[in-house]
Parts: sequence; C-alpha cells; structure tokens
Amino acid sequence: MNNQPMDITVLNLHIVTPAGKNPIYPVMLRDEDGITLVDTGMIGQFAELQSALEHEGVQLSDIKRIILTHSDIDHIGNLGALVNAIPEVEIWAHSDEIPFITGKEPMIKFTPERKALLPEPIAELAEQLISQRTEFKISKVLEDGDMLPLQGGIQVIHTPGHTPGHICLYFREQHFLLAADELRVVDDELVGPAPPATPDMPEALRSLKRLLGLKLEKVLCYHGGEFTDEPSKRIAELEESAD
Ligand SMILES: [Zn+2]
Repeated sequence: MNNQPMDITVLNLHIVTPAGKNPIYPVMLRDEDGITLVDTGMIGQFAELQSALEHEGVQLSDIKRIILTHSDIDHIGNLGALVNAIPEVEIWAHSDEIPFITGKEPMIKFTPERKALLPEPIAELAEQLISQRTEFKISKVLEDGDMLPLQGGIQVIHTPGHTPGHICLYFREQHFLLAADELRVVDDELVGPAPPATPDMPEALRSLKRLLGLKLEKVLCYHGGEFTDEPSKRIAELEESAD
C-alpha cells in the first residue's frame, strides 16, 4: 500500500430493518502505512463490508487498524470477523469505551430484549461477537484531544452521551468531521443524536459544545450520511437550542 495518496472513502452499507433498508457509513482511510477502517458495520454484514472494500481495491490484509467510534452493535458488528481474518489488526478506541468493547462490561444497549428481536442467524452471530469480546486487544487508547498521525492529523473529540466513550474525529486539513452518532442527517437536515438510542441525552447535547468553532466543509453522520450546508453554523444552532 506504499505510495498511495491519502484519501477518505465513505463506504455505504445497509442494515435491513422491517421498515426497509437503512444505510450506514463506515469510513476507509488510505495512508502510507496501510488502510484504517473507522467502524465495521452491523453484525451479519461481513460479506457486504468485504465486497465494499474490494470495490475500492482493498483486501482485508491491507487493513492495518480499526478505529471504533463506540461500541454499539452496528459499529462493532464485524469486529470479530475482522479480527479472525486479520489477527494482527490494531484496534483503537476511547478509554471510556474499552470495557464495553472488551467484554468487561455488558453491551450498553444491546439488551436481551433487543437480541430477541433479531432474526435467528443474526442473533447467533451477535452471541458469537459478544462472547468473543474478551479476545479483543486494544492497541491504542484514545483520549480527548489526541492527534492521530493519519490523513495529515485527525483530532479525537470525546463526545459522551450516546455512549460513555463515544468519539468524533476531526480531520484538520480536510475540514471534515466524522460525527459518528453524535449527529445525524434526517430529511436533509443536520440534527442531534437519536433520543431512543442515547441513554444520556443531556450529556450528548452538552457534547455538542465540543464541536463548536471547528472549521468545517463537511460532516459525515453514520446514520444519514454527509451534510455540507454550512455545518459549523448548523452545529452552533443545535448547541444553542439544546440549552
Ligand atoms: Zn449507530
């Protein structure tokens, strides 16, 4: 993977729900030392993830590291399959999220009630992933303000609320914010996190303050996709209306 230009590729996967297909957007970064995957998609989606990567000319063995924005099942869903396929892959995550990724704590929102709603083959994969968590080794513990040596400098912004160790990633050179689940795009508008999936909504809204003042051309939300219409101004509006 040497001499590849740096770039950011948004992958487009789909969660199948009773209401229809629901797009989600993991991200793939190309740097000189290899590929970084930011989030891994929903459990049961490994084949779809793999073909999305192959479509971009990437093999699993090219993946050097996985950054997890948080431990929700639609973000760590294929982590077990990836670790099985690439045993040396690095996992990077925020310190407050690590117990949920490595199985020291129960999954935050993936309760037995929710598990019961999954179709049988998916529920089985979920069980596998949950029990495999104790095998996951975190290579790099992320903290708020860390500057990651990727894409010319990516700033870690800790945005707790949706989960305790949820992070956003700010690509300083590209003026790009990977917002994960701290923001969503709904009906073409940038909005805050989804209340039913956000156990500490007041804290998630306070976390919006940490996104103020960023120079932004584009925001990517894992649910809803890209938003480019003066995102900084819109984030300031959201923060103000949350007070
Ligand atoms: Zn999510």
